[in-house]
Amino acid sequence: MTITSFNPATDAVLTEYDAHDAPAIEQKLERAASAQREWARTPVAERMALLRRVAQALREQKAGLAPLATLEMGKPLAEAVGEVEKCAWNFDVYADAAPGMLQDQVVPSSATDSRMVYDPLGIVLAVMPWNYPFWQVMRAAAPVLAGGNGMVLKHASNVPQCALALEAVFQKAGAPAGLFTTLLVGSGEVKRLIEDHRIAAVTFTGSTPAGRSIASQAGQALKKQVLELGGSDPFIVLADADVEAAATVAVKARFQNTGQSCIAAKRFIVEHAVADRFVDAFVAGARKLVVGDPMGDGVTQGAMAKRNLRDELHAQVEASVQQGAKLLLGGKPVAGPGAFYEPTVLDQVTPDMTAAREETFGPAAAILRVADAAEAVRVANGTPFGLGAALWTTDLDHARQLTRQIDAGAVFVNGMVASDPRLPFGGTKESGYGRELGVLGLHEFTNIKTVWTGPART
Ligand code: NAP
Repeated sequence: MTITSFNPATDAVLTEYDAHDAPAIEQKLERAASAQREWARTPVAERMALLRRVAQALREQKAGLAPLATLEMGKPLAEAVGEVEKCAWNFDVYADAAPGMLQDQVVPSSATDSRMVYDPLGIVLAVMPWNYPFWQVMRAAAPVLAGGNGMVLKHASNVPQCALALEAVFQKAGAPAGLFTTLLVGSGEVKRLIEDHRIAAVTFTGSTPAGRSIASQAGQALKKQVLELGGSDPFIVLADADVEAAATVAVKARFQNTGQSCIAAKRFIVEHAVADRFVDAFVAGARKLVVGDPMGDGVTQGAMAKRNLRDELHAQVEASVQQGAKLLLGGKPVAGPGAFYEPTVLDQVTPDMTAAREETFGPAAAILRVADAAEAVRVANGTPFGLGAALWTTDLDHARQLTRQIDAGAVFVNGMVASDPRLPFGGTKESGYGRELGVLGLHEFTNIKTVWTGPART
């Protein structure tokens, strides 16, 4: 099998790799298992020293790493640089915080001493998507490694250069050989990997259908799993909101990363009273996006990662227009080479239309107009997803009540949903389960062991 690295901005093949065959996979898993056994016994302070060296290596190499993401999945170079910097920050945050998170928790009981301790689980298999080819992997890797585990990466098949570059970052930082291992394999290999006795747990980020399949395989093998899946995040603007600020943030929330983010705002749910003002400001902001060569200066929207994904997005836009949505901006692929799509805004969308029911993974926004806050929450909750949500209002007491009514893993009031290493991240409903980041992200991949000690008996 061949794994092909291609440039979605030009359609050019960049390079091709032979996928790892069975003997290569066996050798890599054996090395990973032996590295992890040693790592589990390594004092926490030494583990943290490695995390800091990884952060440093990422910063030193960002000028070489960032263009790989841009070349392989089409994001603007400035966004790719920011992504590498965020990975480094994540490793520093865990290097600071993980020793505290891993400390024993004394829990009073009838015992002389009773406590929870956090032991490593083993090797975590990471099956990852291409949309943030560094961040998705490294946000999972920092807590996994801090907890004394190893990681085997099966990255998306369109970003093999990024996958290999990450393995090289760990080598450069002096990680034990095999502790972080990249396997170049297709998705057909995942089931065998999950079943392998050396794999203890799975972390998956990607689409809901793939998550369903991985969850059943991991369930069959009785292996711990964390699933970060798709979303159709609502961005609610109430009548008392700062509408201009909301519209400015909304443009970034929808179009950054060329709209290919699980937590991108996808449905803009706006109270009638301010809808025209919001729509005018939002469309004006979207018009200013500069679409073009993602390596180019000043470009704010690059290519989508694959032509078939662009075609799927276009079909969703066309279906929504046929169903009655009003096209205010864009609405078609950009002619010529590359998987470019015009920044697109659909108004008068209703909850039954395709753009509201399905995840739109690209630069197309759906605006739904509602009568009041109660209808806004009903519409927000009206999809199978529950990843993030944004809520704009100047009444913070009202906001606090509404945040509890919204089905989501995170609600951001007067801001855009974003991941932060200090805060838990994850979804509910069909957006997945388990948490990454924060203290919960670290404890997910530990064996939380109860140690009960009675009085010493002679
Ligand atoms: P994807 O098609 O599900 O692929 C993700 C990973 O899973 C890739 O490594 C892929 O390998 C592998 N894969 C695909 N089908 C599989 C299967 N049946 N069994 C085992 N592995 C399988 O997703 P994507 O297109 O890369 O990413 C976009 C999706 O990810 C969106 O739905 C987005 O919302 C979601 N996402 C979620 C989060 C979050 O944190 N919740 C973050 C980012 C993205 P191949 O490339 O070899 O097929």
